[in-house]
Amino acid sequence: MHAHLLAIRDLWHVDEEMDALRAKAGALARAVEEARARREAAREALDARKAELAELKKRERALDRRIAEYGQRRDRTRRLLDEGKVGDFISAQRQLDQCVAIVDEAETELLELLEEVDAAGEALARAEAELEAAGRAVEAAVRAQAEQRPAVVARYRELEALRPERWAALDEEHRVPYRDLRRRGWKPLAWIRDGACEACRRVVPPQVAIEVVQGRTVHRCRGCGRFLYDVRPAEETEEDDG
Ligand SMILES: [Zn+2]
Repeated sequence: MHAHLLAIRDLWHVDEEMDALRAKAGALARAVEEARARREAAREALDARKAELAELKKRERALDRRIAEYGQRRDRTRRLLDEGKVGDFISAQRQLDQCVAIVDEAETELLELLEEVDAAGEALARAEAELEAAGRAVEAAVRAQAEQRPAVVARYRELEALRPERWAALDEEHRVPYRDLRRRGWKPLAWIRDGACEACRRVVPPQVAIEVVQGRTVHRCRGCGRFLYDVRPAEETEEDDG
């Protein structure tokens, strides 16, 4: 293999690992952020459930008061009617009927409301459990980050220190194309496979392939500009840049 190609490969190994480490650190940080956002959402959901339950309880108390008030009025009117102490029998009777109807209606409403209160209480308990689980998820994500990040950072610093030397080893004429390929987010090396560039499938002339294999000249793919690395034996399929 051509020495320049080896230099490209060695530099790429550093860059590839640095990319992976950056991605790893990013994923750890994102996991913490996402877990915190989920916990915040769970907290808001719990607050909403609490407010909902408080509102229902308020309605429950209002109905209790209404039932008590009209129940007393009903009982008093009935007593006066029984004792024959009303001035106007018809209107007293009407008042009694009204009180009975209001109390009945309020009692029916209260029964329905109590079902809602039960349901809201269950929803609140679920929201509390969800907040607790979300809190544990945050702790786990923070712990994972604390455990894994130092090694990621340490390795990154090592590679950072190593990279200038690898970059300097790169032949000058290959630096610009290498940087361009990196900028596109492409792996700068491609195998030749079945007579074509493995990355873009552009045909590689046989003479070029021979020169690549013999390590005589550095060739770049005419389709994508990647540095042609070597001919990959037919039975190999796995991603491997040597
Ligand atoms: Zn190509």
